[in-house]
Amino acid sequence: MDSADPKEIMQAGQEKRPALRPHKPWVDLSIPISEEMPRWKPRFESKYGGFAHKTSSITLALHTGTHIDAPLHYVADGPSIEMFPLELAFVEAWVVDLTDVAPNHRITVDDIAVNFPEGEPEAILLRTDWPRQAFNTSRFWSDSPFICEEAAEWLASREIRIIGYDFPQEEAIKQLVTGQKRVSARDFTVHHVFLSRGIWQIEYLTNLNQLGCQRIQLVVSPLSLVGLEASPVRVLGRCYKRMEETVWSE
Ligand SMILES: [Zn+2]
Repeated sequence: MDSADPKEIMQAGQEKRPALRPHKPWVDLSIPISEEMPRWKPRFESKYGGFAHKTSSITLALHTGTHIDAPLHYVADGPSIEMFPLELAFVEAWVVDLTDVAPNHRITVDDIAVNFPEGEPEAILLRTDWPRQAFNTSRFWSDSPFICEEAAEWLASREIRIIGYDFPQEEAIKQLVTGQKRVSARDFTVHHVFLSRGIWQIEYLTNLNQLGCQRIQLVVSPLSLVGLEASPVRVLGRCYKRMEETVWSE
């Protein structure tokens, strides 16, 4: 009877197989919604009946925390949020590493192009890890990096269908929140660039550092709010394929 060690047999088998490794666990890329959220300030109200019967209602702006903008947000006759295409609810996405950019940096085409993937991903997430540096502080708004209009135009021309960010992505948001300058809807040029081309925009992602690779599976499923321009959204991501594609360490 063969008395070979089962561990050795397994090891030998693994050596012959291609170096596929299991997916990493799902990562929650969304900010939890609570009354403690900075700036957005949702309100929770709960009532209690008998038999531990709890019923709650919440009041929150649709642009609270992690949310997705529909084209209707900036295009009068554009698609509203319930029209979010179901084929985009589970897609391949690429994370573009911008973690080297400094606070207040105006992110250019060159900054993005140097780390931009080959191929045609349907979704691009711009990662700065800004929430790790400044979430829950006024610096989150006043000192955030932001992308310039030309960079937005360049990204839009890649034929992506979803764009996401983990930082306040345009200068007008900074100016609005800090009161540095009076701004009007016209000043939100990054919003205009993407939404006028039918590209769905995810704002205020978090935890992109926990993904551990550049190419991910992305789950995005906004509420079906009929005729409205945005929805809070739970966004999940996980490493897409082979671990040897890992391009950064945490
Ligand atoms: Zn929004």
